[in-house]
Amino acid sequence: VTVLAPDRLADALVALDGDPARTVLAGGTDLMVDVNYGRHRPTDVLSLRRLAELRAWRVEVGPGGDEVVLGAAVSYTTLLGPELSGLLPALGQAARTVGSPQIRNTGTIGGNLATGSPAGDTLPVLVAHGATVELASAHGRRTLPVADLLVGPKVTALAPGELITAVRVPVVPGPGEFLKIGVRNAMVIAVANCALVVDTERRTLRCVLGSVGPVPVRDPEAERWAAARLDWDGGTPPDPAVVDDFGRRLAAASRPIDDHRATADYRRHAVGVMARRALARAWAAGPGRGRDQGRAA
Ligand SMILES: Cc1cc2nc3c(=O)[nH]c(=O)nc-3n(C[C@H](O)[C@H](O)[C@H](O)COP(=O)(O)OP(=O)(O)OC[C@H]3O[C@@H](n4cnc5c(N)ncnc54)[C@H](O)[C@@H]3O)c2cc1C
Repeated sequence: VTVLAPDRLADALVALDGDPARTVLAGGTDLMVDVNYGRHRPTDVLSLRRLAELRAWRVEVGPGGDEVVLGAAVSYTTLLGPELSGLLPALGQAARTVGSPQIRNTGTIGGNLATGSPAGDTLPVLVAHGATVELASAHGRRTLPVADLLVGPKVTALAPGELITAVRVPVVPGPGEFLKIGVRNAMVIAVANCALVVDTERRTLRCVLGSVGPVPVRDPEAERWAAARLDWDGGTPPDPAVVDDFGRRLAAASRPIDDHRATADYRRHAVGVMARRALARAWAAGPGRGRDQGRAA
């Protein structure tokens, strides 16, 4: 096996252009599982480990407000740190639920996206934020909404020779929630998960479900329906009937399957419960006040 570990992005892109079948290695927490099970036998590897710019993050002022630009090799441990989880609370909560400390130190947001598993925990949060990915190859750069990057289960719109270099996440003024259900409390792939992001300036919300369809699932009509029934000025808790109906609508929008982790019926029920809880919790925090503390589903 030959391993290239350039320290300049331009060199990485040239190497990939010369051999688009070269295996890209970030944290290796998905890739090595495939190698260990004999599903993948890489011969030429491009390691991203020395690309410092992929591990950095910054805040930029975008046309619609602040955006956090996360290098593709930013780890879960960085995401759940106080600074980033203060800016992106739902993403911090999602990062907290991933694997173990070792996986969180090594696994990256770019790897989660490039794997494109329906159970990937950052995916619903990024779609809820309206995040975009920055892609680069030796021939140029392009940006894509995360929702368009994810094409199907473990299928992405990444072209041969292309790397995810960054994820651009709009900061949303208001609370964010992430909930996850698994067969145990730690080291668990989601049976289902749910991200809710509330924008108190635009008076909108986005609720995105994971692991209940080939790609993250939204129901924009249910989101508009709920937003029209919330007390944006006074902040009084939503009518329980609204919360219940919101959960029912999201459950109906999901397209789960039966597999070894759960039945489709259980998943449908679970996302209804999580959507209800997410809405009630976001409102309990008070519209207009973001939070950075995480919690289990
Ligand atoms: C024990 C264990 C527990 C886990 N728990 C969770 C969990 O709770 N939630 C969850 O969502 N996931 C979980 N995972 C899966 C995994 O940790 C994540 O998907 C992680 O984000 C993958 O990132 P990585 O950097 O390790 O990717 P790698 O394994 O290095 O790469 C994964 C894939 O993405 C490609 N790739 C990586 N970076 C880029 C890039 N910048 N551009 C283009 N392609 C790229 C690689 O070529 C490869 O195909 C778990 C894995 C293990 C082993």
